[in-house]
Amino acid sequence: MVQSWLAKRTKTLETSLIEQIFNLAATLKDKIDLSIGQPHFDVPQPIKEAACQAIAAGRNRYSQSEGIDELRCRLREKIRQEYLGDDREVMITCGSNGALTLSVLALIDPGDQVILFDPWFVVYDPLIRMVGGEPVYVDTYPYFRIDPDRVARAITPRTKMIIVNSPNNPTGVVATEEEVRALAELALQRGVLILSDEIYRDFCFGVPFISPGQFNPYTVVVGGFSKTYGMPGWRLGYAHGPRSVIEQMIKVQQYTFVCPPHPFQWAALTALHTDVSQLIVETSRKCDAVVQGLAGYYEFVRPAGAFYAFLRVPWGTGSEFARYALQRYKLLVIPGRVFSNRDTHFRIAFTVDDRTLEEGIRVLRELALSPPST
Ligand code: PMP
Repeated sequence: MVQSWLAKRTKTLETSLIEQIFNLAATLKDKIDLSIGQPHFDVPQPIKEAACQAIAAGRNRYSQSEGIDELRCRLREKIRQEYLGDDREVMITCGSNGALTLSVLALIDPGDQVILFDPWFVVYDPLIRMVGGEPVYVDTYPYFRIDPDRVARAITPRTKMIIVNSPNNPTGVVATEEEVRALAELALQRGVLILSDEIYRDFCFGVPFISPGQFNPYTVVVGGFSKTYGMPGWRLGYAHGPRSVIEQMIKVQQYTFVCPPHPFQWAALTALHTDVSQLIVETSRKCDAVVQGLAGYYEFVRPAGAFYAFLRVPWGTGSEFARYALQRYKLLVIPGRVFSNRDTHFRIAFTVDDRTLEEGIRVLRELALSPPST
C-alpha cells in the first residue's frame, strides 16, 4: 500500500550506484578504493580553526537564507572581474548540489528540455526528471569535446537550458576557450540559458579555466568549497547569475534548505584567502602517475583537470569490468553507465594516498592484461 502513495517522480529514481559503492566501501576491508570523488587532503588547519571559532562564538543560529553578507561580498568581488553582466547576484548554498537543485527548481518546468553532454555528472539527469524536465543528450565520445554543431542540432523550441561541466566529472577534460566561447555564443543566439558547473575550476593542470560566463551573461554558475578545500561533508557551495534568477533561487532556498550551514560560512571566509596551490600540485602529480602508469594499457583521454580518469574497458562492459575488479581484487571503480547512456568505460578517482594509487595502478594493469576467461 505504501508503494502506491509514493510520488510518481520517485519511480524513475534508483539508489545511486555511487552511493551503493560508497556503502560497500565502508564495510569492505583491504580494498583499493578509487571510486569516490573526494579530495585526498583534509580541510587546512586555519579553516578548521575558523569553523571552531564560529561555533564557539555562537554563530549557530540560522543565517540569512541567501548566506552571510560578508561571504557574498567577498565572492562578488571575485566574480566581478571575470564574469559578464553588471547585474549578477550571488548566493551561498548547501553544497554545489544545493545550487544545482535550486537552479533546476527555479528554472525548469515540466516538458522543458535540458541539454546534457554524455557522459554527465550523475546528479543532472535525475534532478531534471524529478521536476518533469526532459534531458536531451549530446554524445561526446570518444574525445569528450564540446561540438557546438551537435549542440545546435539538439536545440528545439522546448530547450530551456544547457548544462556544462568543465573541468569534467567523470572525464577530467577541460574545455578550451574556443569550445566554451562557441557554446556561450550559440546559447546567446538561441535564447537558451547555460548552467555552468564549475566545482572543479581550481583543479586545472597546466591549462586555463574558462567559463561560458565570460562570454554570455545569461549563465548561472554553480561553484563549491567541497573539493578545493577538502570539505565535502561541510555542504557549502554557491551560485551566481542574473539577479532575477538568483532572487528566485533564494526564495526556493527559504522554503527548502532554509540556509547553508551557518558556522561554516564564516570558515569559508578564511578558506577564500587560504593558499591551496600545493594541494592542487599534489593532485596534478597523482594525475601524472595515472597517465604514466596506465598509458598503453587502456584507451583514455589524458585528464587536464578535476581528479578523474575515464578509461575505456579492455573487455566486457563497464559494469562487468567494475564487478570483476571488485570480486577479484577488491578494487572499487565506477562503471560508465552511471554517467552515460553507454557502458563502455569506467571512472577512477585518483585523489587517494600514493600507496593506494600505486596499488590501484598495478591491479588495473593486471586487469587490462587478464580478462576473466583467461
Ligand atoms: N558537481 C560535480 C560535477 C561534482 O562532481 C560534484 C561532487 N561530486 C558536485 C557538483 C557536488 O558537490 P558538492 O555538493 O559537495 O559541492
